[in-house]
Amino acid sequence: MNAAVNLLEFDREGLAAFCEQLGEKRFRATQLFRWIHRSGAAEFAQMSDLAKSLREKLAGAATIAALPLISEHTSGDGTVKWLFDVGDGNAVETVFIPEDDRGTLCISSQAGCAVGCRFCSTGHQGFSRNLTTGEIVAQLWYAERVLRERLGRGDERIVTNVVMMGMGEPLQNYAALVPALRVMLDDHGYGLSRRRVTVSTSGVVPMIERLRDDCPVALAVSLHAPNDLLRDELVPLNRKYPLAELLAACRSYLAKAPRDFVTFEYCMLDGVNDSDAQAHELLALVQGSGRTDSGIACKFNLIPFNPFPESGLKRSPNPRIAAFARILQDGGIVTTIRKTRGDDIDAACGQLAGEVQDRTNARQRMTRAPVRLQRGAAASGQGETRAVQENHR
Ligand code: SAH
Ligand code: SF4
Repeated sequence: MNAAVNLLEFDREGLAAFCEQLGEKRFRATQLFRWIHRSGAAEFAQMSDLAKSLREKLAGAATIAALPLISEHTSGDGTVKWLFDVGDGNAVETVFIPEDDRGTLCISSQAGCAVGCRFCSTGHQGFSRNLTTGEIVAQLWYAERVLRERLGRGDERIVTNVVMMGMGEPLQNYAALVPALRVMLDDHGYGLSRRRVTVSTSGVVPMIERLRDDCPVALAVSLHAPNDLLRDELVPLNRKYPLAELLAACRSYLAKAPRDFVTFEYCMLDGVNDSDAQAHELLALVQGSGRTDSGIACKFNLIPFNPFPESGLKRSPNPRIAAFARILQDGGIVTTIRKTRGDDIDAACGQLAGEVQDRTNARQRMTRAPVRLQRGAAASGQGETRAVQENHR
């Protein structure tokens, strides 16, 4: 059959509808779903508790298709990075980060990204296309299956946490994202609690509000700047959804969030967003004035910038990162500094590049225009501006 449906595309509800189309009872979907996502089955013949006639029907109409693997690299620290082929010359990356008490899988949501953040290697590649639900789920399906074979003890899950922090802006691929999240959360699927699934966004305000109502998982927001002037430059989406709107969306998300705080990610860029004054400005931003706005329950995760040549930017020195963190901590905000993992295989945050057919000409745009990164007047005290030269290859 040439138009076989990939069952990784479906959440359990979708699979039930598919079973109905085949003339089967909806509840068969639960059995099927468990085989696919709990047992990691790839063949219908394995599914011993399904009638032979159903298995044959499925084999004629459907597949369980992983993404074609291009390469796998394992870092000295145990981090594993896979590169998957998503067709048309595009590839996406998935990273597994083992820790003592958990195993985190970092998943991609798009081939490339249209947001175009200055400090992000994926952003510099431009945007090619959204991944489908099946392509998002396939990353988890594959990793869990392969790692369980290698490291597993019985039925124990290897991937205990998922972060949507690979390539792409998940909230610009909302329709595919939500069913994928449902597969991760489903007790008959991966059974991950909402606290253990994190969507990271550069700030797509209306979709933060929809996620709150449709599928509230843990939320991480990539802030990177304490004021609109600087954030407009670093995260171009800020021009559409400025900080006041973003923070309001975060506050309203908390009403239904599985955790009682939002995590703010902040990429530490030398001489750009890492001064003491900017840390104080950030503190004031999230604590609110007390009169006109009320502040927000949050934690900070400072990410040392992972440099790549085209960015023309540098990582803040460690003592600077520590001083910045101290100011936030002294202000009462829990602040962590992200350990960089998988550095030796380019698997760290922001290094995921895959290979993307740039349909948005981001590469051209970013290499032509030198970026003017402007420190907020309040932050520098002098309204100082600073040009960061792009590195012309
Ligand atoms: N698009 C989403 C999720 C993917 S990026 C987002 O922006 O939140 C995941 C995280 O990596 C984000 O916080 C992003 O700002 C950060 N990041 C991107 N490029 C980076 C780099 N070169 N060094 C360090 N962190 C980076
Ligand atoms: Fe896209 Fe996130 Fe990279 Fe920005 S940081 S370009 S939103 S992937």
